[in-house]
Amino acid sequence: MPAPTPHRSGAPSSRPTASQDRRPAANPWKIDLRELGRRAGSMQEVDRTAPAPADWRVELLGVPEGAQAHLRLRLESVMEGVLVTGELEVPVVGSCARCLEPIEDSLRLDVQELYAYSGSTTEATSEEDEVRRVEGDFLDLEPLARDTVVLSLPLAPVCTEDCAGLCVGCGQRLDDLPADHSHEIVDARWADLAAKFGTPASSSGTPGGPTTPEEN
Ligand SMILES: [Zn+2]
Ligand SMILES: [Zn+2]
Repeated sequence: MPAPTPHRSGAPSSRPTASQDRRPAANPWKIDLRELGRRAGSMQEVDRTAPAPADWRVELLGVPEGAQAHLRLRLESVMEGVLVTGELEVPVVGSCARCLEPIEDSLRLDVQELYAYSGSTTEATSEEDEVRRVEGDFLDLEPLARDTVVLSLPLAPVCTEDCAGLCVGCGQRLDDLPADHSHEIVDARWADLAAKFGTPASSSGTPGGPTTPEEN
């Protein structure tokens, strides 16, 4: 299948001046491979930022849309395609799964991926979704970055490793409350039950007792 070479396909009818001579609609996620070439062993360093799309998130945590992802990658031409190695750094925001405090952090992730040339053995022997592919003269880093980020986002992020969560009595963060925080008055029905079963109310009233979600 002939690979399209969209070098200037979208060139505006009014030619820009030489100083503005940039590829139209340059997408920072797409790497132009013409500089790298196909000679096995040639290398190219990529150090750039690109805006995160909207869907890099899981329920409680994600990369804000438009936030800058920082890519520090090395592209290496190999027989079968282009080997991409390096790291990706993105800001993440969300909320703590235990206490709902806002979380702001960044993730630094290792990347290693082979993009197969069309017509390569790797491409010929792989299913469509098994291997990333070089598209003409370009390599699209966005799907790789997205998979790398989304798969590494924790489903239950915490503000601190030992976040104690919320007090069941008043809903405040236990970490913000004094160590002896407790609620004397329990619901009358519980008091009755406690009396009935001979359980002293004090032993069941340990603050935060039922909320220690140590499992993550
Ligand atoms: Zn927390
Ligand atoms: Zn409380």
